Amino acid sequence: MLPPIVSTISELRSLVAAARRGGKRIGLVPTMGALHAGHAALIRAARLECDYVVVTIFVNPTQFNQPSDLERYPRTLDADRQLCGAVGTDLIFHPPVEEMYPPGSLTSVEVGGLTDHLCGPSRPGHFRGVATVVMKLFNIALADTAYFGQKDAQQLRVIEQMSRDLNVFTEVRGVPTVREADGLAMSSRNRFLDPTERSGATAIYRTLNLVREKVLRGERNVSELEAFLRQTLLSTPGTRLDYAQIVDAETLQPLTHIEKRALAAVAVYFGPTRLIDNIHLDLG
Ligand code: AMP
Repeated sequence: MLPPIVSTISELRSLVAAARRGGKRIGLVPTMGALHAGHAALIRAARLECDYVVVTIFVNPTQFNQPSDLERYPRTLDADRQLCGAVGTDLIFHPPVEEMYPPGSLTSVEVGGLTDHLCGPSRPGHFRGVATVVMKLFNIALADTAYFGQKDAQQLRVIEQMSRDLNVFTEVRGVPTVREADGLAMSSRNRFLDPTERSGATAIYRTLNLVREKVLRGERNVSELEAFLRQTLLSTPGTRLDYAQIVDAETLQPLTHIEKRALAAVAVYFGPTRLIDNIHLDLG
């Protein structure tokens, strides 16, 4: 069944309030649309734990640093609605920009520290845009639980930290990355890859796994591991590296030695398309 779409905050609030009065647990899945199996996994996770699942589809302008990236971001509302219906969504919230950002908004949310590295430096203002829109969605939907992908590991940490620091009512859950059969993390941006880039992109997860194997075999020196990660990624024709780093999985600060919970994270360009991925390097 195709879920209804609402575009105003007041409609969303009254439908969620009615569901809550009916004793339902509310699940929230924030997305920017162009939905794929990764998003479907978030919706399924919400479905398992909640009785009323709200998917938001909003291409949030404040998290884009490049106007061209915002402009070419895919918008596929009809197909998104089909996917939402197929995996069990009760309501889609699809607001216009003016509904989320009426003129005169002056407040934003900045999460310190966690954005010093990885995507932070190359995407200034990105995480402020993400944290602000997610905080707004949390306040609008007042869901019990919200679901985010581990593919965007830094985003997930920023949202977890924001929720903890600002005493957010909604609980935050991370959902494992969904991948294509050849390991490439599903992303709305994969559709921009030409066939050569698409086959080159399989190097990302393959290389992250090789790093993980090295750690499992006893390598602990982060500069050695990062050098291997960078060289291996760069040996794929047509790649350009934004970053390839190993950081503490909690603080997202650089490490010199792998001790407990580490995260290897990369951002790689194939032509104009920037892909990110990560892998946890946990020691027993
Ligand atoms: P986006 O629409 O790209 O902003 O993503 C919306 C949500 O889906 C975010 O929480 C992402 O982390 C999550 N997501 C995107 N791709 C994947 C994936 N391949 N596996 C799991 N979650 C994903």
